[in-house]
Amino acid sequence: MMLLPCPHCGPRNEDEFICWSEATPRRPADPSALSDEAWVDYVYNHDNIKGWSAEQWFHARGCGRWIVFERHTVTHEIRPAARGDD
Ligand SMILES: [Zn+2]
Repeated sequence: MMLLPCPHCGPRNEDEFICWSEATPRRPADPSALSDEAWVDYVYNHDNIKGWSAEQWFHARGCGRWIVFERHTVTHEIRPAARGDD
């Protein structure tokens, strides 16, 4: 079990959250300008790094906000979160 420090609700069990994806890939500014291969790469291919990774989490059973946590993919240590949708 992990405790995630929601900046709005305080420390909460990971069961209250949905981990969505890595936070680093940003939506392309002009998606219509991408080739099909570039769009597939953006949607499906992620870095899957070993170490610290910024991830988007949705506090589904709490404040209902998107939050970016930094999680170590080996130890599952969590760094304080950005407030996300403020
Ligand atoms: Zn929350």
